[in-house]
Amino acid sequence: MGVQKKLAELVPNEPSVSLLARIVSVNPKEIQVNGTPKKIFYGILGDETGTVPFTAWETENLRLEKGDTIRVENAYTKEFRGQVQINFGNRTAITPESSDAVPPYQPGPVTLKEAKVKDLREGLGGVSITVRILSIEEREVMVEGDKKLVYSGVMADETGKAQFSVWKDFGLKEGDVVKIEGGYVRMWRGIPQLNFDERAEVGITDEELPSVEDLKKSARIWIEDLIERGGAVDATVRGILVDVKEGSGLIHRCPECRRVLRKNTCRIHGEVEGQSDLRVKSVVDDGSGALTAVFGKELTEGLLGKSLEECETMAREAMTREVVRDELADMLIAQPVEVRGNVTKDEFGIMMIVDSADMLKIEVEKEAREMLDDLEDLR
Ligand SMILES: [Zn+2]
Repeated sequence: MGVQKKLAELVPNEPSVSLLARIVSVNPKEIQVNGTPKKIFYGILGDETGTVPFTAWETENLRLEKGDTIRVENAYTKEFRGQVQINFGNRTAITPESSDAVPPYQPGPVTLKEAKVKDLREGLGGVSITVRILSIEEREVMVEGDKKLVYSGVMADETGKAQFSVWKDFGLKEGDVVKIEGGYVRMWRGIPQLNFDERAEVGITDEELPSVEDLKKSARIWIEDLIERGGAVDATVRGILVDVKEGSGLIHRCPECRRVLRKNTCRIHGEVEGQSDLRVKSVVDDGSGALTAVFGKELTEGLLGKSLEECETMAREAMTREVVRDELADMLIAQPVEVRGNVTKDEFGIMMIVDSADMLKIEVEKEAREMLDDLEDLR
């Protein structure tokens, strides 16, 4: 049985949580599960610390009314649009409670924690941070049938970059240096993201930060720090390329979902006519740890000095596609590299989708030592 938590304490992907909460809203909805209609409920739960959306997947004999106070045991959490969401499944027990069991919502006082971008971790709340906005865009999304505007982009300080998402128009513009008080961190597509809303204090500050141009440069980060942080935006890693994995070189993708085919078969769509593609799925080790680095078609063509068509010809002549992977392995394994891109984390570890790569001719060990010295100086 999970520990009883306040709503503000919830993080995504908890397998079992218990709560005491009030139903702020509840709506029935019919969805299709394997072609069969199924009734679910969705809505909002509230307690004295905040509100969180919920979905109830097993609605037989379940009565949920707006304003009810309920005790929930064995619920689980997921991430949805960068926010935590509570799910009631078939193991979840829901029992009514008296209406005074949950105090009314009391915004604050929140204890603020001063943070730099490199400190942002999933689940962190009450974040106080000063950043420069590097990019911002407005999007319209539907939330429970209502149109809402969400503003998202990339922010940075001298320690790195992070994505942010905000559900209120604070009038933020590219280049602004802003102090945000009351943000919280959630995973979004495998990367920690700072979220804030109307409860946050947001304002332009005259604190000094490097220029947009300097902040747009990619920060060099140790792999062990990337693992500990749980992903990062636009990171640079220097290390040795230690493996070119199976599924590298000339591959075939499903035309429907772009998954890599095995024996002309997609895991989801069965036997299909594959589309040729090139990639490298490698392992880069910098001495502190290892990450999977994936190079797409253009980068792989650049490394090989051959086009996709030339690789297909080469595979036809050799009568095996493995010839391309072999050439890549010969060329890359044991080479020092610098790779740059977004790093995401999932249950298999951390992975970089490489945006740019340099094969280094330098003595990596010496560089690594210098980098370590730099880091020591900063501490
Ligand atoms: Zn497919």
